[in-house]
Amino acid sequence: MSVREIRLLGDPILREECEPVEEIDDEVRRLARDLEETMYEADGVGLAAPQVGVALRMFAYDVRDPDLPAGVLINPRIEATGGSEKDEEGCLSIPGLTAAVERPARAVVTGLDPDGEEVRLEAEGLLARCLLHENDHLDGVLFLDHLSPLKRSMLLDKWSKREAERSGSSTGASSPGAGIGL
Ligand code: ZN
Repeated sequence: MSVREIRLLGDPILREECEPVEEIDDEVRRLARDLEETMYEADGVGLAAPQVGVALRMFAYDVRDPDLPAGVLINPRIEATGGSEKDEEGCLSIPGLTAAVERPARAVVTGLDPDGEEVRLEAEGLLARCLLHENDHLDGVLFLDHLSPLKRSMLLDKWSKREAERSGSSTGASSPGAGIGL
């Protein structure tokens, strides 16, 4: 297992449409473990394959609630959504920025686990938000895309300033700010 480098906003892979996993082989299982390890190391609650530079449809999720499922979902499908909820959201690929994002309050998501077993998640609250956020990553969509153009450009300005500061000093591990990292 190894911690992989998390790709940041501006990296073109974050805007790619990811390919389905054709076969769960050793490489895919290794990626699954690395996704989890990298997510825990970054103290995030979810991490999608494109965020570590691999354009495959899979992500790790763990909202750190012992009563809720956690793991890696391969070739996920959003089967149903319901309701609507606005809550603060961040992204490990856009460290330091958070915004209130409106999403469905509930989601039914299916897919495969790294053993090839069928998984069906009936999620609400933070878990639903996490699964929808990660699934977005597989289509090249970021949480910023759910915001109004004004709010998005304000956040992007903030990001550019921080990037300028970052490149002015030493480049190192990203440190997510307040809010949840997905
Ligand atoms: Zn994210």
